[in-house]
Amino acid sequence: MVAKLLLLTAIYHLIVIVGSIDHHLLVETTSTHLSINKTEMESVSRDFGNIKITQPGAILHPSSTQDIVNLLKLAYESPEGFVVSARGHGHSINGQAQVGENGVVVQMSGTSLGPAPIVLEKLMYVDVWGGELWIDVLKSTLKYGLAPKSWTDYLYLSVGGTISNAGISGQAFNHGPQISNIHELEVVIGKGEVVTCAEDKNSELFHAVLGGLGQFGIITRARIALEPSPQRVRWIRILYSNFSGFTHDQEYLISLHGQPRSKKFDYIEGFVIVDEGLINNWRSSFFSPSNPIKISSIAADHGNVLYCLEITKNYYHHSDPESINQEVEALLKKLNYIPESVFTTDLPYVDFLNRVHKAELKLRSKGLWDVPHPWLNLFVPKSRIDDFNKGVFKGILGNKTSGPILIYPMNKNKWDEETSVVTPNEDVFYLVALLRSALHSSDKAQTLERLSDENRQILSFCKDQNIGVKQYLPHYTTQQEWIDHHGEKWHKFSKRKMEFDPRHILATGQRIFVPDFNSKTRTS
Ligand code: FAD
Repeated sequence: MVAKLLLLTAIYHLIVIVGSIDHHLLVETTSTHLSINKTEMESVSRDFGNIKITQPGAILHPSSTQDIVNLLKLAYESPEGFVVSARGHGHSINGQAQVGENGVVVQMSGTSLGPAPIVLEKLMYVDVWGGELWIDVLKSTLKYGLAPKSWTDYLYLSVGGTISNAGISGQAFNHGPQISNIHELEVVIGKGEVVTCAEDKNSELFHAVLGGLGQFGIITRARIALEPSPQRVRWIRILYSNFSGFTHDQEYLISLHGQPRSKKFDYIEGFVIVDEGLINNWRSSFFSPSNPIKISSIAADHGNVLYCLEITKNYYHHSDPESINQEVEALLKKLNYIPESVFTTDLPYVDFLNRVHKAELKLRSKGLWDVPHPWLNLFVPKSRIDDFNKGVFKGILGNKTSGPILIYPMNKNKWDEETSVVTPNEDVFYLVALLRSALHSSDKAQTLERLSDENRQILSFCKDQNIGVKQYLPHYTTQQEWIDHHGEKWHKFSKRKMEFDPRHILATGQRIFVPDFNSKTRTS
């Protein structure tokens, strides 16, 4: 009875949002999946950033692609119109998956939503629901001894959410971002039609959606490339006191991407170490049993700021441990790190991929996970990374971090220029990720206002010095900034928007296009 009443209220809400509509379609759309439950509304009003809070008009919990088709048809065809955003796991920073009270959030991730993953062992791919979390994709493929090739550092993110951006981690230098490892997509476009697309089928939509910030359609299925899964990982950290030595060695290691497996590492990242406190080092649970020396004792000898290069070598049950040792040794010999600073550990592949989750549990237990996160992610061209180091790390931040700072390079030739994602105009560019947490503490340097202000200073420094950075997981508030961000790609991006979502219904939380409910382009 209570459930029925709630449902009626939800339908009434939707009628208020859309005004006069086709009631048959409304009932079909909303039969059991629409909700205005207070707790659910509260939870989708927020995201990981914890900076922007906006309550939607209603939430749709789809059980199939058809539920999404019905909703988007309604939004597109009703005279009043309303906006719709897919929400994966809500790990955006600036309300990118939010809609406001005149919209509906489509909650893609969550238990019993969408069909289960289907692995095609012989063809080496898996078909997954757009809201599937990467941790569950991994669990399903491991049953067949297979795994996706390209990852994010953290696995509690949805497939639709990461491929709407790019999806990057230390494998990207070799395999490209996650969007370079997708064979096919099923997408419900802004006109409410289902379209299957791939490199050679409806390719304009395929490329638009990859890195497309949710602007062109809702991804309901993705076909992800797989490889035989390694069983174990040799995980190594080496330290540098000198920034240019650190970046020189990173660039050398990623230049080996075309070499056979035995002659390169499988994962290359890096980060800045200012101190060993939890808030700066929560990202991983690394411990080196063979070298338990404290990093701080090395820092005491080499200056307060160290740079850590993080690399891995994957291996299989059948691998010969001695040859793994030799391969690692041969690669390390070519590098110029602080000699006593080799930290090594060895662990199952799954534990390595899921390393950030352990750290998440630690932070949660101390109440430090749900704080505001004014994160800033930038792609910096290789030729300007030294200027960035001087102006930002040493200058604006004064070597204070307030959270992990990741720095690692990638090869542009592993990224498909046809996709919507925007990267700098150089063969090699760095990800610089300032993953900062704001705290209510007496230390003014850690407040949200202070950290947000530093982010603004960093962006204006890059603009004034013409560094040529591009934001990753971009956030802007005016269309002109989006036009500047896309540069030469803007024309194609806006043309694709006109074709696939002409009323600008989708993912309005990105603030790229304003909804156009007066448009005559919809079918009447
Ligand atoms: P949401 O926040 O729910 O949505 C993000 C955007 O995608 C919204 O605009 C939404 O409308 C759209 N969207 C979501 N699902 C769909 C869909 N099915 N179809 C179409 N559009 C959709 N990124 C990396 O690349 N590498 C990392 O290592 C990495 N680590 C992270 C670690 C943490 C702790 C956090 C919080 C984020 C990290 N990210 C990383 C960023 C992350 O990839 C993005 O924030 C991503 O969007 C999160 O996925 P989500 O499912 O939470 O998306």
